[in-house]
Amino acid sequence: MPKYSNLQVIQSALKAGSTSCEKLVDYYLARIEKQQALNIYIETFAEEARTRARALDQKYREAPSSVGPLFGMVVSIKDVLCYKDHKLSAASKMLHNFTASFSATAIERILAADAIIIGRTNCDEFAMGSANESSYYGPTRNAIDPTRVPGGSSGGSAVSVQADTCLAALGSDTGGSVRQPASFCGLVGMKPSYGRISRYGLLAYASSFDQIGIIANSVADTAILLEIMAGADEFDSTVSAEAVPAYSQHLSFPGKAKIAYFGEAMQHEGLDPEIKKQSFDFIEALRGAGHQVAAVDFEYLAYLVPSYYVLTMAEASSNLSRYDGVRYGHRTATATSLEEHYRKSRTEGFGEKVKRRIMLGTFVLSVGYYDAYFKKAQKARRLIQDRILQVLADYDFIIMPVTPSVAWKIGEKQGNPVEIYLSDIYTVLANLTGLPAIAFPLGKNKNGMPFGIQLMSAKFTEKNLLSFANTITQNLR
Ligand code: GLN
Repeated sequence: MPKYSNLQVIQSALKAGSTSCEKLVDYYLARIEKQQALNIYIETFAEEARTRARALDQKYREAPSSVGPLFGMVVSIKDVLCYKDHKLSAASKMLHNFTASFSATAIERILAADAIIIGRTNCDEFAMGSANESSYYGPTRNAIDPTRVPGGSSGGSAVSVQADTCLAALGSDTGGSVRQPASFCGLVGMKPSYGRISRYGLLAYASSFDQIGIIANSVADTAILLEIMAGADEFDSTVSAEAVPAYSQHLSFPGKAKIAYFGEAMQHEGLDPEIKKQSFDFIEALRGAGHQVAAVDFEYLAYLVPSYYVLTMAEASSNLSRYDGVRYGHRTATATSLEEHYRKSRTEGFGEKVKRRIMLGTFVLSVGYYDAYFKKAQKARRLIQDRILQVLADYDFIIMPVTPSVAWKIGEKQGNPVEIYLSDIYTVLANLTGLPAIAFPLGKNKNGMPFGIQLMSAKFTEKNLLSFANTITQNLR
């Protein structure tokens, strides 16, 4: 069976009778089996996916017009999304045997649209990381070069699509966790505006940053998934009631765009010269196509990563306090007092990187340091937001690299957390500001490793963002 690269091709094949949901699921399950060494899935839902596929085939045979818009779409879900009666671990020992008692709103919506969920994918523990190396279940490997990381924290999500084990993946993006692995694996990755998709049933890392995101082969598949998942939800008070456009019906951008780039970002000393060159070439190509692209000053670049990490660690220290060995997850077997029970359960259940963040987060919130770190980072966040809003008052889009480098070797940066944190320089801006951002493949370096470029736009302008990304990826590359 050929590889199907997008939903439209699959739905045509389903209509022509040249494939069925059952055949698709069998194909993907065989791909998963063959690529066990990449460690993409923590668990596959093989039998359940087969049963559902047969039921959908039957539904289609009986009444072709009764099937939902995601008919034929086989999806993987990152192991931070609640799926009722299925295990959910956040790739942590802490939740090793935990079972979700309800489904995330996003999950319910894709199921109602007739998607098939094939399994839950590996990720960094509690979605904290940039390389998928901190999972309790071991690292996921990049399918292009298995000695390299796939990016993170949604590394399993990215490789699940890259290795053709499903058509699209749901991940979460708190500081780049969808866009960065998409870039490292040569895929499209989108983080919608904060409040576009309900976070109900998304395991919390840093609640004022977290968003569910999408990894796919194409902008069109990203658009249809967003369209299905977005919109008001009574279970999440931070989700927007703003109407959800039919993104999938608006994939061609009318006219010419005004685009800004930051000289500071493009000239940054940490940016790989090959990525820099191809990014500038792409800017020239945009100009050649009649779009206006201008350099704009952005004086806060150096503050992005520090503000992001101070704030997310603070929020994480609070969110993760719920894992106390009483209500959820791992419970120590050896405590003799209540105090010891909490301490040992948490010490045994969390991995080293998560513990580091909880401790730093607790530190920046503590009396005496709150003003110096947490409050200052909040102020920086506001200044950054105001500046970006100013830029987006004059421009339709901001264009930036996704990552300063291509995927690194597994283990290469272990023991150097600060270097890894700094590699988030281009992705955290969209999360600090709550703006939508989409990453798509730009090129490959001399070793054949892919990298992407990203666009950001004003809040809730996903329609423009998707249509422009689709138009330029089809016409310029
Ligand atoms: N690399 C970032 C971090 O470790 C992003 C994580 C994410 O988006 N979930 O916090």
